[in-house]
Amino acid sequence: MIWGQFLFAIMSSSASALDVDSSVNPSVEPSVAPTPSMLVLVRNELYSYLRRLLGFLAARTLEFIRPDRYIIYKEVAPSRTCAIQLERVPRKTLILDLDETLLHSCYIDPETKENVGGSQVPACAVPDYQIHLTIDGIEPILFSVFKRPHVDEFLDHVAQWYDLAIYTASVESYAARVVDMLDAGRGILQRRFYRQHCRSNTSIVSKDLTLVNRDLSRTLIIDNTPNAYRDFPHNAIPIKSFIYDPSDTELLKLLPFLDALRFTKDVRSILRRRVENH
Ligand SMILES: [Mg+2]
Repeated sequence: MIWGQFLFAIMSSSASALDVDSSVNPSVEPSVAPTPSMLVLVRNELYSYLRRLLGFLAARTLEFIRPDRYIIYKEVAPSRTCAIQLERVPRKTLILDLDETLLHSCYIDPETKENVGGSQVPACAVPDYQIHLTIDGIEPILFSVFKRPHVDEFLDHVAQWYDLAIYTASVESYAARVVDMLDAGRGILQRRFYRQHCRSNTSIVSKDLTLVNRDLSRTLIIDNTPNAYRDFPHNAIPIKSFIYDPSDTELLKLLPFLDALRFTKDVRSILRRRVENH
């Protein structure tokens, strides 16, 4: 497919050159001699496609040789006792942070040309999405978004067990587009809270979980930033920050715990047992 796109790009540029020459003077034999700028364009296209091809092959090779690819969460239908217990407890709300929890984004700063957030992303890495966004009236910025491995499988599982909500400290104009792509028409990420819903004391931004669900006995959050849940430590499940790692399995590792936690009457009875040693 990548080579197909490359050939298409070359054919398109050649075809447009022919069209231009013929229209100027139909009696003259069209010239297809490549100009230096065309050669630079083709060379850059070639480098770009080769980089993407190498990234694609590296990712597939890694998937093949890593034993992590065999990690599969097998759902088992609850026993009669478990089913009765599940009916006795209320369905809970699972709040999910976005950046560095479910995905990572980077972009080229239009002024400094710096690759913001991209220092730990290999040049050959192929983003899952690329979106142009205009934020605060500045010229459109191209965001490259890398999904955390297994995030789709993770969302499919937890959407069966919990009511889901996204709560991010990012601006709405960026996050809404990214969450739309992550949801991919499944309709499981409809409740969303953005930067304007965060608490901001001094330089620390935190999240008010009661905005999502007033009943904290059935509310929990997964977030890579401890400050985000500083006011609700007994409702939190920390997760390692994700930047770029095709072998990351942190979301899959949480599935058995999340599967069990939905049977509790009060999630804090379990989550308060995690004590951070400062
Ligand atoms: Mg985060």
